[in-house]
Amino acid sequence: MQIQFTWDDPITEEQQQYQFETPIAIGREIDQLPKTENGQPVSQLVLLDANRKISRFHAWITVEQNQLIVEDRSANGCSLNGEKFQGQQRLINSGDVLQIGGYDITLTVLQPMSQPTIAEPKLPTIVTPLSQVGAVPQDAARPSTIIFNPETDAIQTQIKPPTPARSSFPPESLFAAERVSVSALHASGFPIDEIEYASIGGGMGSFVFTDMLRISGVKSEQIAVLSIQEKPYKRYETLLRNCQIPRYKRIRSGSDSCPDNIWGFPGYALRDACRSISTGQVGSAFGFLWQVFAEPIADTYTPRARDVFDSMDREAARISWDRMWRYGSVRSIRKTEDGRYVIAYSATRPPGAPNYRFLIARYIHLATGYPALKLLPDLQHYRETTGDLKSVVQGYEPHDHIFEHLEKHGGTLLVRGFGIVGSQILDRVYEARKQNPKITIVHLSRTHKKGNRFGVAKRYVENQWEFQPFNWPKATWGGDMRSRLESSDPLKRRELLEAWGGTTTASRHRWRQIVKQGIQEGWYVLKFGQVEKVERSPDGKPITYVKNRDYPGFDKIEADFVIDCTGLISDPKDNPLLGDMITHYNLDLNPQGRLHVENSFEIKKMRNDRARMYAAGIITLGGPYAPVDTFLGLQYAAHRAVESLARFRAPNVRFIVGLRSVFQWLKWSANQAP
Ligand SMILES: Cc1cc2nc3c(=O)[nH]c(=O)nc-3n(C[C@H](O)[C@H](O)[C@H](O)COP(=O)(O)OP(=O)(O)OC[C@H]3O[C@@H](n4cnc5c(N)ncnc54)[C@H](O)[C@@H]3O)c2cc1C
Repeated sequence: MQIQFTWDDPITEEQQQYQFETPIAIGREIDQLPKTENGQPVSQLVLLDANRKISRFHAWITVEQNQLIVEDRSANGCSLNGEKFQGQQRLINSGDVLQIGGYDITLTVLQPMSQPTIAEPKLPTIVTPLSQVGAVPQDAARPSTIIFNPETDAIQTQIKPPTPARSSFPPESLFAAERVSVSALHASGFPIDEIEYASIGGGMGSFVFTDMLRISGVKSEQIAVLSIQEKPYKRYETLLRNCQIPRYKRIRSGSDSCPDNIWGFPGYALRDACRSISTGQVGSAFGFLWQVFAEPIADTYTPRARDVFDSMDREAARISWDRMWRYGSVRSIRKTEDGRYVIAYSATRPPGAPNYRFLIARYIHLATGYPALKLLPDLQHYRETTGDLKSVVQGYEPHDHIFEHLEKHGGTLLVRGFGIVGSQILDRVYEARKQNPKITIVHLSRTHKKGNRFGVAKRYVENQWEFQPFNWPKATWGGDMRSRLESSDPLKRRELLEAWGGTTTASRHRWRQIVKQGIQEGWYVLKFGQVEKVERSPDGKPITYVKNRDYPGFDKIEADFVIDCTGLISDPKDNPLLGDMITHYNLDLNPQGRLHVENSFEIKKMRNDRARMYAAGIITLGGPYAPVDTFLGLQYAAHRAVESLARFRAPNVRFIVGLRSVFQWLKWSANQAP
């Protein structure tokens, strides 16, 4: 019998799906799992576990008299649909949720094989399949249908996954080599510029890196930022706005997460307080400070998006961002024979005629952000078969039409996925209901949330929302969790991140009241189960068929709209530039499948004599630092990279310590160029 195992990866928030043939042995140590049973090969599933709650051989799934059975063989027991059992057997029905350690696995019985299976030895499945750092073959995952346009950065939706087209630039003959000859580049006839430092992306990560470089002593003429967005926060702002966080709303980061200020002082709360005092609002000023000092008893302080952007504009002017920035849609990067890198890019924004160029640099920083938007496979299938891109949307796609429709006509909205986007959609529905109370929101979860655990700590869950002020525990930024992760080996890191990760939302008093009110008044409905398919009803509405363990058959949810709030794609292979580099230089990936970086955030395999390449942001998730995709995390990565440059004696880079740091801070406060 074939069984499908489904769970959510707590690190990448991607849905994991594996199919196994019975019998199935599950445990922590591969050597303890049987390979065969009565001459039949066994499917082995190895689950990693930082909490030591999973036994070496934990559970055994077999078919007896045509019934699927799970047997617990562990020291801590299993749970089936929330009911604990130990040393016993339980019958499994399709849709049941088996809990082993921190994993909530939905088991779906696929059709029993119609043809007799040939008994072949099976390879074990180790979660994650790549157990150590190493080069991996490109996986065969389908490319996303929702991408960032490589020339304009606009979110672009296609019905079917695009087929990659080979561009004439850079010339294949030139870029096929391991190291490109600089004279051959000159002979190609394309314009070439040279620079010492180049940051690719031009978003928040590039901004904090160049800020750090400038403060460390590098001149603006020595730095180039290649980007398709002029403002460093532009893509971030677009994603925020699309998920219902306009400029005036508060984002989800701490007071000291200041992309405009590497020292973090004064933080946004103090600045907010000063502004309030200057307008006579003394009470508000104390409120902001109270939020910082009384954390986590009080609602955590977070700054307004607008204030973050304004402060970045000020810092951009101070460090001469405009002089460093140049439009560039980067196609490819290669090492050069003279110990540098060549960057091939298109320097004209469409509809301008192509202006292909090369930039040669000795130090490169990559901060290209999320490669694409993620859409759940059943929703992708719905869009492909119906061509309907309006009723089913991804939470980061523009979707104001949904709220305009609901405010006018009322209706039902089905939301999938919890976390920041889901919470903002709920908030938006609350506002829309003031215009039209005939709006209902159905929130679908695969399993009942129980709160991630690490040691004795357990996250608080209320009405299926798991709470934590920021997306990682606070000690991962600079506390003991940071040093513990950094000193662990790649596999141990994976275990730790799994225990610390997961989808969470910040606990806000007002927002939690809205959830409670919605449940009491019946306009906010929580449902559970595994989605089997999504089809279009005769009147054009998406119907979601959910397999629910409580009764046979399907739960049929008919909604006017479905919003997928499960997030963004963080796999670097999905970014054409990074995908090309990973393949060409056989780059190592970490157990999470993201770029393997050293503790200094250097991509060591890209070293080229004195030349160095660093990476930052979500493309390094799963490495030495947990909150890589946060303002403070980007600053931390920049700091480590600049420190390593200072150690290599890269031109003009000085350590930002002691008097230099104090002097630079004084310049920052006086708004003087570094
Ligand atoms: C909705 C949302 C809310 C968030 N809220 C917070 C928060 O409150 N606090 C916090 O600390 N963090 C937050 N984050 C996380 C993180 O800080 C941001 O995602 C941040 O923007 C990441 O910076 P980045 O430089 O890695 O990517 P981005 O800021 O997205 O920049 C990447 C840039 O690279 C460019 N690019 C990509 N490929 C190429 C190429 N080939 N050539 C040229 N340019 C290219 C893109 O156009 C883009 O401009 C949030 C993230 C999201 C999505």
